[in-house]
Amino acid sequence: MKAVQVSYPNVVMSNDAGAPTSRGERKIGQSLWRGFRGRCPNCGQGKMFYRYLKVNDKCPVCGEELFHQRADDAPPYMTIFVVGHIVGASMLFVEEKWPDAPISLHIAIWPLLTIILSLTLLPMMKGALIGYQWALRMHGFDDAAEAEKAPAE
Ligand SMILES: [Zn+2]
Repeated sequence: MKAVQVSYPNVVMSNDAGAPTSRGERKIGQSLWRGFRGRCPNCGQGKMFYRYLKVNDKCPVCGEELFHQRADDAPPYMTIFVVGHIVGASMLFVEEKWPDAPISLHIAIWPLLTIILSLTLLPMMKGALIGYQWALRMHGFDDAAEAEKAPAE
């Protein structure tokens, strides 16, 4: 395993699959990938979403709290960015290779491709972002926040 230490404490960038890392290091690459696949960033087994974009409060397998996520409107921005580049480049490519393509073909393909790609990528982007937030212990994903919630003596 080759890991690159970044400036965040207890965070290692890696794509290696491994055991749950809730209390120790949280691998950014692994968390991104697990979230991208709609899985819990902690165990990689439990489903992150109980409906299309609705995030489970807790992982159904390991119990990791997922309600701390604050994806907000970042996933749509990222989806638009990616889909826009794919569809825009594809339109230019087709126009370049087949300049006499009928306009009805363009009307049939590009809106449909845009809708399919957007609806497919949106939960993937949201999952990856939540995995990223979890790995960086953003918002309530921090163990320290858990400790602060505990009653003081
Ligand atoms: Zn889990």
